[in-house]
Amino acid sequence: MKDSFGREINYLRISVTEDCNHRCVYCMPADAVPRSWNALKDDDIVEIVEAAASLGITKFRITGGEPLVRPGIVDLCARIHDVKGVEEVTMTTNGTRLKEMAADLKAAGINRVNISLDTLDEKKFRQITRGGDINAVLDGMNAAFEAGMSPIKLNTVLIGGFNDDEIFKLAELTRSCPVDVRFIELMPIGDIHQFPERAYIPCSVVLEKVPELVRINDKNDSNGVTRLYKLNNGRGRVGLISPLSCDFCGSCNRLRLTADGCLKPCLHSFEEIHIKGLHGSELQWALKLAIAHKPKAHAALSATERSQARRDMNRIGG
Ligand code: SAM
Ligand code: SF4
Repeated sequence: MKDSFGREINYLRISVTEDCNHRCVYCMPADAVPRSWNALKDDDIVEIVEAAASLGITKFRITGGEPLVRPGIVDLCARIHDVKGVEEVTMTTNGTRLKEMAADLKAAGINRVNISLDTLDEKKFRQITRGGDINAVLDGMNAAFEAGMSPIKLNTVLIGGFNDDEIFKLAELTRSCPVDVRFIELMPIGDIHQFPERAYIPCSVVLEKVPELVRINDKNDSNGVTRLYKLNNGRGRVGLISPLSCDFCGSCNRLRLTADGCLKPCLHSFEEIHIKGLHGSELQWALKLAIAHKPKAHAALSATERSQARRDMNRIGG
């Protein structure tokens, strides 16, 4: 279905929980209390997917919080995958539970995952995630490879003064491993940690630090937000996602569903449409409303201009 600006909306990101076993400083408060009592039930989510698929939404991404801490997540993925009209179900995860779950997820129809990894340094990893163990993530990534998931994409939030010294090393990973490394500009969202201005660095820094990157186009990677590059002899690709420095709203193709049952027409808008408890034609109507309410673009974001979203990122899903 097309929105008011002619964009084809074919992608729904579903946050299945606000809870997480990490507490990344840019995403959620250290003392966040999980509100799992408020989350949509599996049946509710499947019904929403059915309604979305009937409107031409074919691609679904499971996110969170950390999706793999939701009880019964593998069965839920399989049910979503089996809905008529669904072409692809993917997942964004911190990877910590992939070691034990990757094979089951693959069998449930999750053919590819994005894994968050902001640094290759064990200590810095513990610091940014407030206690996480990088080895669990690396084991999870290997398990995803072994399960046959492909392509595997690593999401790295660029933070000036924290990981800009690792850009070259992270990009080089795409030469030795068949992974895509995607650098994402730090977004000023939610009520959490206030970063200094120098933390907000544009993705163009990646091209300055790794000048041999060559721009490529991949029509199969038409998510509309990633600019793709490759190293000479690279096995994987380098992606740049620039919500601050580069306006990709013109090709936005997505809606978001929060774990507590709200549709967000735009990541950075305060607008939310409550759909918990809606069924049948009312549910379809609410999805159409969310598509119709997609703004042309989000307001400016910068170190001093915060997102208008009224949630921390773990309560939206990225
Ligand atoms: N827990 C999963 C994970 O970390 O991949 C999925 C949920 S997480 C909210 C989804 C994505 O949002 C992650 O790649 C994370 O790095 C990104 N993210 C969270 N807060 C962000 C922020 N303030 N700016 C940019 N990206 C952010
Ligand atoms: Fe958890 Fe993902 Fe947010 Fe980190 S980015 S706190 S792993 S939801």
